This record gives sequence, C-alpha cells and structure tokens, in this order.
Amino acid sequence: MKFARFSANGKISLGVLDKGTIREIDGDIFGEWNYTGNEFYKDQVRFLAPLKPNQIIGIGANYVAQVEDLPEELPDIPVFFLKPISSVIGPDEKIVIPNEISQVKFESELAVVIGKEVKNVPESDVLDYVFGYTVGNDVTAPQFFHPNGHWTIGKSFDTFTPLGPVIETDLDPHQIRVEARLNGVEKQNSGTELMIVPLRKMVSYLTYVMTLQPGDVILTGSPLGAEMVDAEDSIECEIKEIGTLKNTFIHERAIENIR
Ligand code: MG
Repeated sequence: MKFARFSANGKISLGVLDKGTIREIDGDIFGEWNYTGNEFYKDQVRFLAPLKPNQIIGIGANYVAQVEDLPEELPDIPVFFLKPISSVIGPDEKIVIPNEISQVKFESELAVVIGKEVKNVPESDVLDYVFGYTVGNDVTAPQFFHPNGHWTIGKSFDTFTPLGPVIETDLDPHQIRVEARLNGVEKQNSGTELMIVPLRKMVSYLTYVMTLQPGDVILTGSPLGAEMVDAEDSIECEIKEIGTLKNTFIHERAIENIR
C-alpha cells in the first residue's frame, strides 16, 4: 500500500495511492484509519512529505561499489547522525543552498519508516517494526562539517531532507535499487545489497541505544555517485517501487531577491 500526504483544494490530507487515484483517509496511518470516500486524481493534488517524522536518524558512508568490496568485519560503532525535523520538505519543493556557500551535495537514500515502538530488537525481528519505506535525499553541506568530525550543522539546514513521494508498505528492502539523476543524467544506481551495515543490523543496533517510535525515519545511506550541485540543478531520487522524489536547488540569495 502506498500512503501519501497531499494538498488539494487548500486542504492537507492523508490518502492511499492506487494507480492514478488517491483515496483520502482519516486517522493515524500507524494506528486506526478509515477511507473518507473522497477520491482525487493523482495529477490534481500536490504531494507533500508523506509524513511529519518523529525524528530522523542517518547513517554515514554506508555503501561500497561492488559486493566484493564489502568489509569482512563491520564497524563496532556505525557512524550515525541526527537530522532536525525542520529540514523536511516534500516533492517539488526547492532545496535552498545556504548563503555562505555555492554548492551542496545530494544523497539519494532508502528511508525506513518505523511503525511501532521498539527497544532492544534482534536483527531477525526488525522488519516487524517497520511500517514502510520512502525515498529520502540526505542533502549535505560538507563545508559545514566540523574538523573534529561532527556533521550536525552540515546536515541540518532547512530544506535539507526531502522525503517522498509516498510510503510503500509492501516492499522487500533487500530487492531494490537506489537511484539518482542529476539534470536527467544518472549519477547513482545501486542495489541495497551494497550497504556496509545492512538494514536489519542498523535498525537493531539503534534500538539497543534508543527507543524507536512510530514516525521515526532512518536514512540508510547513499550509494556511490553523490555529487556537489549548484543552484538551478534538478535532482531526481528514485526507488522504482516507491516513486521519484524530484527537487530543484535554489540559492538563498535568490530567494532574498524575490522577497
Ligand atoms: Mg547520507
């Protein structure tokens, strides 16, 4: 099932996308919900980020180029970081390049959406707590990485976490490819078997640290091929089974000139 958040006729709604039609729903996607009876053509609505995350956790440098490059031993402490929920935008919204810099990096990623509260879960049971999956763009300004290794500022600017277009609940996360096209040219295209810390291990590890809650989003890392981009560039992050998350970049100065 594909869950969407969308705006139509000035109202924000939740819905289930079925081919070209969105059936509006009422309630909590992680709990009780019902169809309202209202339907919209997909082309008549504006898709928003498919959820307002409870929190966003990312993992750094998590892909190799080919299976043979996977390390025999996994890192003792994976490189995790947090992104603020204020950085979330939806499909077709502008990613804003901050004033002090001229470029940022795109990172197309599989985003896990947690559906049930979970603590200390073994790898074998992780998927029981996953609600579904969306596409994320972990936009990054490495110019703001602290020399001591802290990434927080470089990951945290407003608009730096596009999500969407839907949350797909029927997906085998081990059988998909994570893609990105910059101005129509393919830059990333890797299967999730190339993750260094695999999805189950990553989520399990986190639950031995923190209680995960419904609406928590975990960005599972970006395949090789992410690049620095400029204002006016257009990025499409895609997982075919979920959809395409397209955004364009604008410089903060250009917005100020419009104001
Ligand atoms: Mg990333």
